[in-house]
Order: sequence, then structure tokens, then C-alpha cells
Amino acid sequence: MPNKTASSISEHIEDIESSSSQKLNWLRAAVLGANDGIVSIAGLVVGVASATDNTGVIFMAGLAGVIAGALSMAAGEFVSVSSQRDAERALLIRETKELATNPTGEKEELARIYQAKGLQRSTAALVAEELSAKDAFRAHAEAELGINPDELTNPWHATFASAAAFLTGAAIPLIIILVSPPSWRILVTFSSVVAALALTGMLSAQIGKANMPRATLRVVAGGVIAMITTFIIGKLFNASGI
Ligand SMILES: [Zn+2]
Repeated sequence: MPNKTASSISEHIEDIESSSSQKLNWLRAAVLGANDGIVSIAGLVVGVASATDNTGVIFMAGLAGVIAGALSMAAGEFVSVSSQRDAERALLIRETKELATNPTGEKEELARIYQAKGLQRSTAALVAEELSAKDAFRAHAEAELGINPDELTNPWHATFASAAAFLTGAAIPLIIILVSPPSWRILVTFSSVVAALALTGMLSAQIGKANMPRATLRVVAGGVIAMITTFIIGKLFNASGI
């Protein structure tokens, strides 16, 4: 008996985990988008600011980078989620055809799936029978393909979410470099970006259940390398008087 309780609790936890995994995917994508925005725009504005003191130039370069980055992020996400959705649709269409041409074989297939999940042959057959009588298409979509036909991934949602995440992250270095006193702007931006990346690094480590210090260090290091690299390049151009 205690064994049975333990296994049903762990099954229950699995259910909760799978229903919240979609939410976690969104959160992970949002954190990644914000991270991308912070790092690329920090690198951009630090590089430009190390080549020129002209605030207008820094602003214009930063703004163009923010817009280009958000659009590129949105386009990439739209393409990737659209093709995922196309693949899901194709699978559902194939399933519909199979159900129309071979209903008996499909019922048997459903029974086998439930048998493989641990139901007895007779129970699995009964489950397949009843589910097929109610809504065979939905039963197959969910059990066989793991797709909820009512909730196909919407490419527009993902597109807006990742663009918004990028914009949020990108706004941090852009605003900070513009409002800081000119002689301090690079140092202030550098430290704020390190702090912001430490935050998103810890957040993504928590979401991915990864080793917190190591994951955070990796995220921060990416930003630091980007800023130092563009800083040096900016200084070189500054020194050459372009
Ligand atoms: Zn099927």
C-alpha cells in the first residue's frame, strides 16, 4: 500500500510538471530574449560610446540596434514557431485520415498506448473503446501525438513575447548610458549590465534547475566579453580619429 501511494503521488507530480512545462518554456524564452537584448545593446552602446562622446550618435546607434534586434528576434521566432505549428497540423491531418480509413486499427493502436502506460489489456481496450466513442480524434491527438488540438502553438504570441522580452532587456543599457554623466557613462553602464545579467542568470538557472553560480557566471561572462570587445574596438577607432 505505501508503495502504491508513493507512486500515485509521483504520477501526480509528473502531471503538474507537464502542465507547467509549457509555462516554463515561455519563461525561459522571455529570460533568454531579455538576456539577448541586454548583451547585444550593451555591447553596441559601449562600443559607440568609447569611440565618440556625442550623445546623439550613441542614442541613434542604440535605438537602431534595439529596433533591428527586436525585429530580427520576432522574425526568427515567427519562422520557428510557424514551422512547428505546420508540423503539428500535418500530424493531425494524417491522424484524421488514418481514423477515417482504418478505425479498427486505430482503436487497437490507442489500446496499445494505454497498455504500454501500465493498464491491463482488458482495461486498455475498454479505455480505447470509450475514448474512441466519445472523440476518437482528440483521444489520438492527445495520447499518440501529445498535441491538444485546441491549443496549437500560436506563432504571433511567441513573436510578440520574444520581441517584448528583447526590448525590455535592451532598454536597460540604452537608458542607463543616456542618463549617466558622460565621463562615467561607460563605467555605469558596465556595472549595471553586470548586475542585470547576474539577475537574469540566476533566474534562468532557477528555471532550468541548473547550478546557480556557474550558470550565472556564464551569463555575466558573455556580457562582459561583449562589452570589453566593442570597447576596445571603439577605442581603436577613436584613437585613429574616425
Ligand atoms: Zn492514431
